[in-house]
Amino acid sequence: MLLTAMNKTELKRQYFEKGAAALKRVASIDQNCYCCPLCERLFPPQAIEAGDLTLEHAPPEKIGGQPLALTCKDCNSISGYSIDAAVVSRENLFDEVKAITGQKINHEGRASLKMGGESINVGIEVHDGSIFIKPLKKINDPKKLEAYRAYMMNLSDEGRGDGETFTITPLASYHKKFSKIGDLKSAFIICFALFGYTYVLHKRLSPVREQILNYESNVIDRYWLVSNQKIEKKYFICLLEKPISAIAVRIDKTTILLPWFDGPENLYQYLDGNFEYDNPFTFYGHFLKWPEKLEMGIDFFKSA
Ligand SMILES: [Zn+2]
Repeated sequence: MLLTAMNKTELKRQYFEKGAAALKRVASIDQNCYCCPLCERLFPPQAIEAGDLTLEHAPPEKIGGQPLALTCKDCNSISGYSIDAAVVSRENLFDEVKAITGQKINHEGRASLKMGGESINVGIEVHDGSIFIKPLKKINDPKKLEAYRAYMMNLSDEGRGDGETFTITPLASYHKKFSKIGDLKSAFIICFALFGYTYVLHKRLSPVREQILNYESNVIDRYWLVSNQKIEKKYFICLLEKPISAIAVRIDKTTILLPWFDGPENLYQYLDGNFEYDNPFTFYGHFLKWPEKLEMGIDFFKSA
Protein backbone atom coordinates (compact mmCIF):
# COMPACT_ATOMS: atom_id res chain seq x y z
CA MET A 1 0.00 0.00 0.00
CA LEU A 2 1.55 3.31 -1.05
CA LEU A 3 0.47 6.13 1.19
CA THR A 4 0.77 9.83 0.42
CA ALA A 5 1.47 12.25 3.28
CA MET A 6 -2.26 13.12 3.34
CA ASN A 7 -3.31 9.49 3.51
CA LYS A 8 -0.78 8.84 6.22
CA THR A 9 -2.15 11.57 8.47
CA GLU A 10 -5.67 10.35 7.82
CA LEU A 11 -4.73 6.76 8.64
CA LYS A 12 -2.98 7.92 11.82
CA ARG A 13 -6.15 9.77 12.85
CA GLN A 14 -8.28 6.69 12.21
CA TYR A 15 -5.93 4.50 14.23
CA PHE A 16 -5.84 7.06 17.01
CA GLU A 17 -9.64 7.15 17.24
CA LYS A 18 -9.85 3.37 17.16
CA GLY A 19 -7.22 3.00 19.88
CA ALA A 20 -8.80 5.70 22.04
CA ALA A 21 -12.25 4.05 21.74
CA ALA A 22 -10.73 0.69 22.66
CA LEU A 23 -9.02 2.15 25.73
CA LYS A 24 -12.31 3.63 26.91
CA ARG A 25 -13.94 0.22 26.65
CA VAL A 26 -11.26 -1.98 28.18
CA ALA A 27 -9.29 0.29 30.50
CA SER A 28 -12.02 2.73 31.58
CA ILE A 29 -9.85 5.66 30.51
CA ASP A 30 -12.04 8.73 30.08
CA GLN A 31 -9.66 11.03 28.20
CA ASN A 32 -9.30 10.79 24.47
CA CYS A 33 -5.87 9.21 24.24
CA TYR A 34 -3.91 6.47 22.52
CA CYS A 35 -1.62 4.08 24.34
CA CYS A 36 1.64 3.00 22.67
CA PRO A 37 1.36 -0.81 22.70
CA LEU A 38 5.10 -1.18 23.32
CA CYS A 39 5.90 1.29 26.14
CA GLU A 40 2.32 1.79 27.47
CA ARG A 41 2.64 5.59 27.50
CA LEU A 42 -0.52 7.60 26.78
CA PHE A 43 -0.68 10.25 24.04
CA PRO A 44 -3.26 13.00 23.36
CA PRO A 45 -4.67 13.66 19.83
CA GLN A 46 -2.11 16.48 19.29
CA ALA A 47 0.62 13.82 19.28
CA ILE A 48 -0.22 13.06 15.65
CA GLU A 49 0.53 16.61 14.43
CA ALA A 50 3.56 16.77 16.72
CA GLY A 51 4.95 13.63 15.11
CA ASP A 52 5.00 11.75 18.43
CA LEU A 53 2.88 8.88 17.09
CA THR A 54 4.05 7.07 13.98
CA LEU A 55 2.68 4.35 11.74
CA GLU A 56 4.14 0.96 12.57
CA HIS A 57 4.50 -1.53 9.72
CA ALA A 58 4.57 -5.26 10.36
CA PRO A 59 6.74 -6.80 8.99
CA PRO A 60 8.96 -3.71 8.30
CA GLU A 61 7.87 -1.44 5.44
CA LYS A 62 11.05 -2.06 3.40
CA ILE A 63 10.14 -5.71 3.02
CA GLY A 64 6.52 -5.09 2.16
CA GLY A 65 4.78 -4.88 5.55
CA GLN A 66 1.51 -2.99 6.03
CA PRO A 67 0.87 -0.10 8.46
CA LEU A 68 -1.06 -1.94 11.17
CA ALA A 69 -0.84 0.29 14.22
CA LEU A 70 0.58 3.43 15.79
CA THR A 71 3.58 3.30 18.06
CA CYS A 72 5.30 6.25 19.69
CA LYS A 73 8.23 7.94 17.98
CA ASP A 74 10.67 6.72 20.64
CA CYS A 75 9.69 3.05 20.30
CA ASN A 76 9.61 3.33 16.52
CA SER A 77 13.06 4.85 16.25
CA ILE A 78 14.63 2.48 18.81
CA SER A 79 13.57 -0.43 16.69
CA GLY A 80 13.94 1.17 13.26
CA TYR A 81 17.71 1.56 13.43
CA SER A 82 18.41 -1.76 15.01
CA ILE A 83 15.96 -4.62 14.97
CA ASP A 84 13.97 -3.63 11.86
CA ALA A 85 17.22 -2.88 10.03
CA ALA A 86 18.48 -6.37 10.94
CA VAL A 87 15.33 -7.97 9.48
CA VAL A 88 15.72 -5.97 6.26
CA SER A 89 19.44 -6.88 5.95
CA ARG A 90 18.60 -10.54 6.48
CA GLU A 91 15.99 -10.46 3.71
CA ASN A 92 18.52 -8.74 1.38
CA LEU A 93 21.01 -11.48 2.09
CA PHE A 94 18.42 -14.19 1.36
CA ASP A 95 17.58 -12.43 -1.92
CA GLU A 96 21.24 -12.29 -2.86
CA VAL A 97 21.75 -16.00 -2.19
CA LYS A 98 18.63 -16.77 -4.23
CA ALA A 99 19.93 -14.64 -7.13
CA ILE A 100 23.37 -16.26 -7.11
CA THR A 101 21.88 -19.75 -6.98
CA GLY A 102 19.44 -19.04 -9.79
CA GLN A 103 16.23 -18.96 -7.73
CA LYS A 104 15.58 -15.29 -8.36
CA ILE A 105 15.79 -13.91 -11.88
CA ASN A 106 16.32 -10.19 -11.24
CA HIS A 107 18.53 -8.73 -8.55
CA GLU A 108 21.31 -6.23 -7.87
CA GLY A 109 23.77 -6.60 -5.05
CA ARG A 110 27.37 -6.90 -3.96
CA ALA A 111 29.53 -9.92 -3.36
CA SER A 112 33.07 -11.08 -2.90
CA LEU A 113 34.50 -13.03 -5.83
CA LYS A 114 37.36 -15.45 -5.27
CA MET A 115 39.24 -16.52 -8.34
CA GLY A 116 42.84 -17.62 -8.75
CA GLY A 117 43.60 -17.20 -5.05
CA GLU A 118 42.57 -13.51 -4.96
CA SER A 119 39.29 -12.08 -3.58
CA ILE A 120 37.80 -8.86 -4.89
CA ASN A 121 34.52 -7.05 -4.30
CA VAL A 122 32.14 -7.18 -7.22
CA GLY A 123 28.75 -5.86 -8.17
CA ILE A 124 26.29 -8.56 -9.13
CA GLU A 125 23.40 -7.99 -11.47
CA VAL A 126 20.99 -10.72 -12.33
CA HIS A 127 18.72 -10.04 -15.31
CA ASP A 128 16.31 -12.71 -16.48
CA GLY A 129 18.40 -15.36 -14.81
CA SER A 130 21.79 -14.36 -16.30
CA ILE A 131 24.45 -13.21 -13.84
CA PHE A 132 26.65 -10.21 -14.69
CA ILE A 133 29.68 -9.63 -12.48
CA LYS A 134 31.58 -6.35 -12.44
CA PRO A 135 34.60 -5.51 -10.24
CA LEU A 136 33.87 -2.44 -8.09
CA LYS A 137 36.60 0.20 -8.37
CA LYS A 138 35.71 2.12 -5.25
CA ILE A 139 35.74 -0.68 -2.72
CA ASN A 140 38.79 -2.63 -3.87
CA ASP A 141 42.49 -2.36 -3.25
CA PRO A 142 43.87 -1.15 -6.66
CA LYS A 143 46.65 -3.75 -6.43
CA LYS A 144 44.10 -6.52 -6.06
CA LEU A 145 42.12 -5.19 -9.00
CA GLU A 146 45.28 -5.15 -11.10
CA ALA A 147 46.14 -8.71 -10.10
CA TYR A 148 42.61 -9.79 -10.96
CA ARG A 149 42.78 -8.09 -14.36
CA ALA A 150 46.16 -9.70 -15.14
CA TYR A 151 44.78 -13.09 -14.09
CA MET A 152 41.74 -12.71 -16.35
CA MET A 153 43.90 -11.56 -19.28
CA ASN A 154 46.14 -14.52 -18.79
CA LEU A 155 43.15 -16.87 -18.79
CA SER A 156 41.76 -15.49 -22.02
CA ASP A 157 45.22 -15.49 -23.67
CA GLU A 158 45.60 -19.13 -22.89
CA GLY A 159 42.05 -19.79 -23.96
CA ARG A 160 41.31 -21.80 -20.82
CA GLY A 161 38.76 -19.54 -19.12
CA ASP A 162 35.85 -21.90 -19.52
CA GLY A 163 36.59 -24.58 -16.97
CA GLU A 164 37.82 -22.12 -14.32
CA THR A 165 36.06 -22.27 -10.94
CA PHE A 166 35.30 -19.26 -8.79
CA THR A 167 33.49 -18.62 -5.52
CA ILE A 168 30.93 -15.88 -4.91
CA THR A 169 30.14 -14.90 -1.31
CA PRO A 170 27.47 -12.26 -0.62
CA LEU A 171 28.82 -9.18 1.19
CA ALA A 172 25.54 -8.55 2.97
CA SER A 173 25.44 -9.54 6.64
CA TYR A 174 22.94 -9.08 9.44
CA HIS A 175 22.69 -9.18 13.21
CA LYS A 176 21.05 -12.51 13.88
CA LYS A 177 19.75 -11.82 17.39
CA PHE A 178 18.35 -8.39 16.46
CA SER A 179 16.63 -9.87 13.41
CA LYS A 180 14.89 -12.44 15.65
CA ILE A 181 13.74 -9.68 17.99
CA GLY A 182 12.54 -7.81 14.88
CA ASP A 183 10.38 -10.83 14.02
CA LEU A 184 9.11 -10.89 17.61
CA LYS A 185 8.10 -7.24 17.27
CA SER A 186 6.31 -7.86 13.97
CA ALA A 187 4.35 -10.75 15.52
CA PHE A 188 3.49 -8.59 18.54
CA ILE A 189 2.24 -5.70 16.35
CA ILE A 190 0.24 -8.11 14.14
CA CYS A 191 -1.46 -9.54 17.25
CA PHE A 192 -2.08 -6.04 18.60
CA ALA A 193 -3.79 -5.13 15.31
CA LEU A 194 -5.88 -8.29 15.45
CA PHE A 195 -6.75 -8.52 19.17
CA GLY A 196 -6.14 -5.06 20.69
CA TYR A 197 -5.09 -3.80 24.12
CA THR A 198 -6.82 -6.62 26.05
CA TYR A 199 -4.20 -8.90 24.57
CA VAL A 200 -0.96 -6.90 24.40
CA LEU A 201 -1.33 -5.21 27.78
CA HIS A 202 -2.02 -8.56 29.49
CA LYS A 203 0.66 -9.41 32.05
CA ARG A 204 1.70 -12.51 30.12
CA LEU A 205 2.89 -10.27 27.30
CA SER A 206 5.09 -8.14 29.60
CA PRO A 207 8.30 -10.13 28.97
CA VAL A 208 7.66 -9.85 25.21
CA ARG A 209 7.38 -6.05 25.38
CA GLU A 210 10.40 -5.90 27.66
CA GLN A 211 12.46 -7.95 25.19
CA ILE A 212 11.49 -5.77 22.23
CA LEU A 213 12.34 -2.55 24.04
CA ASN A 214 15.57 -3.94 25.51
CA TYR A 215 16.79 -5.65 22.41
CA GLU A 216 20.38 -5.87 23.62
CA SER A 217 19.46 -7.90 26.71
CA ASN A 218 18.27 -11.48 26.92
CA VAL A 219 14.82 -11.32 28.49
CA ILE A 220 13.19 -14.30 26.80
CA ASP A 221 14.39 -17.17 24.69
CA ARG A 222 12.57 -19.94 22.83
CA TYR A 223 10.11 -17.58 21.13
CA TRP A 224 11.51 -18.26 17.67
CA LEU A 225 11.18 -21.34 15.46
CA VAL A 226 12.40 -22.03 11.96
CA SER A 227 9.17 -22.33 9.95
CA ASN A 228 8.13 -25.81 8.92
CA GLN A 229 8.75 -25.80 5.17
CA LYS A 230 6.21 -28.58 4.68
CA ILE A 231 3.44 -26.10 5.49
CA GLU A 232 2.77 -24.16 2.30
CA LYS A 233 1.10 -21.15 3.92
CA LYS A 234 3.93 -18.60 4.34
CA TYR A 235 2.05 -16.12 6.52
CA PHE A 236 -0.43 -17.15 9.18
CA ILE A 237 -1.66 -16.64 12.70
CA CYS A 238 -2.60 -19.84 14.45
CA LEU A 239 -4.27 -20.21 17.84
CA LEU A 240 -2.60 -23.38 19.09
CA GLU A 241 -4.54 -25.96 21.03
CA LYS A 242 -1.92 -28.70 21.12
CA PRO A 243 0.60 -29.32 22.58
CA ILE A 244 0.01 -26.04 24.43
CA SER A 245 -2.29 -23.08 24.22
CA ALA A 246 -0.34 -20.26 22.56
CA ILE A 247 -0.26 -18.09 19.45
CA ALA A 248 1.99 -18.93 16.50
CA VAL A 249 2.64 -16.20 13.95
CA ARG A 250 4.44 -17.36 10.84
CA ILE A 251 6.25 -14.63 8.92
CA ASP A 252 7.75 -16.52 6.02
CA LYS A 253 10.85 -18.40 7.25
CA THR A 254 10.25 -17.57 10.91
CA THR A 255 7.51 -18.67 13.27
CA ILE A 256 7.10 -16.69 16.48
CA LEU A 257 5.37 -18.06 19.58
CA LEU A 258 3.43 -15.70 21.82
CA PRO A 259 1.53 -16.41 25.06
CA TRP A 260 -2.24 -16.88 25.12
CA PHE A 261 -4.63 -16.17 27.99
CA ASP A 262 -5.12 -19.76 29.10
CA GLY A 263 -1.69 -21.12 28.21
CA PRO A 264 1.25 -21.69 30.58
CA GLU A 265 1.82 -18.83 33.05
CA ASN A 266 5.30 -18.35 31.65
CA LEU A 267 5.26 -19.69 28.09
CA TYR A 268 8.97 -19.40 27.39
CA GLN A 269 10.07 -21.07 30.61
CA TYR A 270 7.54 -23.80 29.94
CA LEU A 271 8.89 -24.39 26.43
CA ASP A 272 12.41 -24.51 27.81
CA GLY A 273 11.48 -27.13 30.38
CA ASN A 274 9.32 -29.30 28.16
CA PHE A 275 10.69 -29.29 24.63
CA GLU A 276 14.05 -30.07 23.10
CA TYR A 277 15.80 -27.13 21.50
CA ASP A 278 16.64 -28.82 18.22
CA ASN A 279 13.40 -30.67 17.91
CA PRO A 280 10.60 -28.20 17.18
CA PHE A 281 7.23 -29.63 18.13
CA THR A 282 4.33 -30.28 15.82
CA PHE A 283 1.39 -28.09 16.66
CA TYR A 284 -2.33 -28.14 16.07
CA GLY A 285 -4.81 -25.33 16.23
CA HIS A 286 -6.90 -23.09 14.05
CA PHE A 287 -5.93 -20.30 11.73
CA LEU A 288 -7.10 -16.74 12.37
CA LYS A 289 -7.53 -14.04 9.77
CA TRP A 290 -4.42 -11.93 9.11
CA PRO A 291 -5.26 -8.28 10.02
CA GLU A 292 -5.31 -5.70 7.23
CA LYS A 293 -5.56 -2.74 9.57
CA LEU A 294 -5.90 -1.93 13.28
CA GLU A 295 -8.93 -4.10 14.11
CA MET A 296 -8.69 -4.79 17.89
CA GLY A 297 -11.19 -7.62 17.72
CA ILE A 298 -11.15 -8.63 21.39
CA ASP A 299 -11.43 -5.04 22.71
CA PHE A 300 -14.56 -4.42 20.66
CA PHE A 301 -16.01 -7.88 21.18
CA LYS A 302 -16.11 -7.56 24.94
CA SER A 303 -19.29 -6.08 26.32
CA ALA A 304 -18.55 -2.65 27.68
ZN1 LIG B 1 6.21 3.65 22.87
